[in-house]
Amino acid sequence: MIIRVSEIPEAGLAIEGVGEFPHPFQDAAWTLEALSLFVEKDKNDVCVRGRLSSSVPQTCSRCLQQFAFTVSADVDTRFCPRPVGRDEEVELTADDLEVDFYADDLLDLNRVVQTETELGLPMKPLCRGDCRGLCPVCGGNRNITSCTCEVRVPDPRLAALKDLAVRLSSR
Ligand SMILES: [Zn+2]
Ligand SMILES: [Zn+2]
Repeated sequence: MIIRVSEIPEAGLAIEGVGEFPHPFQDAAWTLEALSLFVEKDKNDVCVRGRLSSSVPQTCSRCLQQFAFTVSADVDTRFCPRPVGRDEEVELTADDLEVDFYADDLLDLNRVVQTETELGLPMKPLCRGDCRGLCPVCGGNRNITSCTCEVRVPDPRLAALKDLAVRLSSR
């Protein structure tokens, strides 16, 4: 959804639902599930506030299974007119942490949806908080099968602790 900044009404513009966003993402496998935005002019700037949630396919970093991750993002972005002429650095003030630009009177809300969703993706995706991962011996998914492989990787720190415990208890 692209809006003309000059056509944003004085009272602001409320956008509810995903109907206006048939293809907001570059990746067609991503889905926008819910959206509620309020677009408001502040002199030459445009403020976009609200919430959105999207579903993005992810690969679990422990068990390598695909799963749908739901991003719920708060939107609070200020768009300033892109400065023309010199490539001067634009100084951002502390309360304008999320500042972006628009140009030619056009504000691309698809980009807001894309950016906010990307920012909400986990660095290390997990299919669930207690994912048990893959067995390092047979490669089986421990969430599904419980194999009987013996994992013989003695941890030297654990061994030292055991030694200490034995010595303490034999005093
Ligand atoms: Zn997993
Ligand atoms: Zn195994």
